[in-house]
Amino acid sequence: MTKKILVLPGDGIGPEIIAEAEKVLLALRDRFDLDIVLEHGLIGGVAYEQTGQPLPPATLEAARHADAILFGAIGGPQWESIQRDMRPERGLLALRSGLGLFANLRPAIVYRELADASTLKHEIVDDLDIMIVRELTSGIYFGEPRGIRTLENGERQGYNSLVYSESEIERIARMAFEIARQRDRRVTSVDKANVLEALELWREVTSSVAKDYPDVTLQHMYVDNAAMQLVRNPNQFDVIVTTNMFGDILSDLASMLTGSIGLLPSAALNEAGQGMYEPIHGSAPDIAGNNIANPLATILSVSMLLKYSLHDDAGSRRIETAVRQVLADGYRTADIYSPGTRKVTTGEMGDAVVAALK
Ligand code: NAD
Repeated sequence: MTKKILVLPGDGIGPEIIAEAEKVLLALRDRFDLDIVLEHGLIGGVAYEQTGQPLPPATLEAARHADAILFGAIGGPQWESIQRDMRPERGLLALRSGLGLFANLRPAIVYRELADASTLKHEIVDDLDIMIVRELTSGIYFGEPRGIRTLENGERQGYNSLVYSESEIERIARMAFEIARQRDRRVTSVDKANVLEALELWREVTSSVAKDYPDVTLQHMYVDNAAMQLVRNPNQFDVIVTTNMFGDILSDLASMLTGSIGLLPSAALNEAGQGMYEPIHGSAPDIAGNNIANPLATILSVSMLLKYSLHDDAGSRRIETAVRQVLADGYRTADIYSPGTRKVTTGEMGDAVVAALK
């Protein structure tokens, strides 16, 4: 059956990097019979300019009916002073919550050719390939009650609530185990069960879900230790599953192990298996319009899209292999260029990946 992909380029370098990802999708359609149809929609600052809203209802409606969404980036200095609920970021948050995208998948991969970009030593990060599965719609970022109150003695007190229900823990744990089954079958659940009751429940529920996955090993780790281990020996991990806030911090830490944000994709999935795929970087207004942005994170987001929403493992691998090939052949956009390699534009990098698809 034909799969519908909604393409949302957004702002800044969004349209430039999305154009290259689309080249790859269309090449797969034309050369390898990928049965897809692409639709386009507005989001972010450009949507605000054209419709007065950062997430026009037509975009949300199209997203609900799409099998997957390919997203570029939103935001820019020209929209930083407009009223808060009209800012581009609001469009992205509204789309995530409108679709119930509760699982955020952030791989941290180091390509051998780019291991020098990492701030860690070669031997620590060589061939790194971790997947962080972060809970995205609950936990302390959403828990009630929350606020700033004034105590009887007149002092102000800020408070937030870390809340996780069994079903919320269970669905993110299942997602992590399912993903581990497509990888090295090892899950590390990161919590702070020694001090937080909510995460005592997290540990209990995760252990109970593990019983349904006897082929996957589960280990529990406290978050402070996990942060240390990620820097000491990141290769010990396969899949890490964790809460919203811990995942926020650990996924940024892990992505920086790779040293090149222009190369890292991400996905956000809901219970229906629908997903939104996007590079982890922003709209890079400082380089927008110059045809120098690195499109590889967006192209690798297409690889994730094929794997997790279209269940096309062969297509997904085909893209990954092509990206490895162009890096091995020395193609580099400005952000990852070093002497002795071949500097290319955004468009040339996309063309090189398309040519390398086998
Ligand atoms: P950024 O990720 O856009 O840029 C940080 C630095 O990395 C810049 O120097 C930029 O030129 C560079 N960079 C980013 N992507 C690159 C690529 N593909 N190729 C080469 N270089 C790249 O982060 P920022 O500067 O903090 O934010 C800029 C805007 O993006 C802001 O409006 C912010 O709100 C928005 N933003 C959007 C998202 C999103 O759409 N998901 C995420 C983060 C930030």
